Amino acid sequence: MTEYYASDAATRGRIFDIQRYSVNDGPGIRTIVFLKGCMFRCRWCSNPEGQLFEPVTLKAMHGKGDKIAGTDVTAGEVMETVLRDSVYYARSGGGLTLSGGEALLQPDFALALFRLAHLHGVNTAIETTGYASREVLDRLLPHIDYVLMDIKHMDPKKHEAFIGKTNERVLENAPYIAQHAHHYTVRVPVIPTFNDTDAEIAAIARFAASMPGTKAIHLLPYHRLGMDKYTALGRDYGMGTVPLIPDEKMRRLLLVAQESSGLACQIGG
Ligand code: SF4
Repeated sequence: MTEYYASDAATRGRIFDIQRYSVNDGPGIRTIVFLKGCMFRCRWCSNPEGQLFEPVTLKAMHGKGDKIAGTDVTAGEVMETVLRDSVYYARSGGGLTLSGGEALLQPDFALALFRLAHLHGVNTAIETTGYASREVLDRLLPHIDYVLMDIKHMDPKKHEAFIGKTNERVLENAPYIAQHAHHYTVRVPVIPTFNDTDAEIAAIARFAASMPGTKAIHLLPYHRLGMDKYTALGRDYGMGTVPLIPDEKMRRLLLVAQESSGLACQIGG
């Protein structure tokens, strides 16, 4: 058993950030570890520095120096940071969340982090697109307490136009993940001009409700928090100047999601 966890602690992976004291990425107070690499290219992505597995340079902004996004670390090193906040996790029901990028693209590293967290009594969550092989899902799901899975659109063509890939694999995997996850929540980033009509939200909500195991739907309003990073990366921001979604419209879409699914629905989360 000791050897087993020693090998987990030595497992290497590539991350681009660790964020402590988060309250929006699973229950309670959480530490978010952002893993490098994603197969999607969402136009609105707020972590564009996480998309490529290779390290990238964010050019100096706001008087600060250049920053390299992409560091190779061991799971043991990451856990040293995660465990600093154990007292907050215990009080709040929080824990460790893997985000990205897409954490499922580094399955050995993700598995090592989840097993080490559980060894120390820390609960685990993942923010994921669900885009992975069944083999990867079967290895990881038993070690994840909360799955927060994005379902961004039901139309494969629109999915491809805004994200760079169609949604077939996501929609194929979603029922499997919902069935096998300990706790499964559907998250919908609500993006103007992409999926912010009543019909589009209703279609996602009906699909979510059709999957046994889905506990809730979270609607995440579009924001532009990652916009500066595109300039720092020398890239164009994919959403241009489309306006944010007014609160009143978000409240209406919430009602649409509730009525279409019958599930617990909320804005944010
Ligand atoms: S799936 Fe997430 S990390 Fe990947 S491009 Fe889309 S928003 Fe960015």
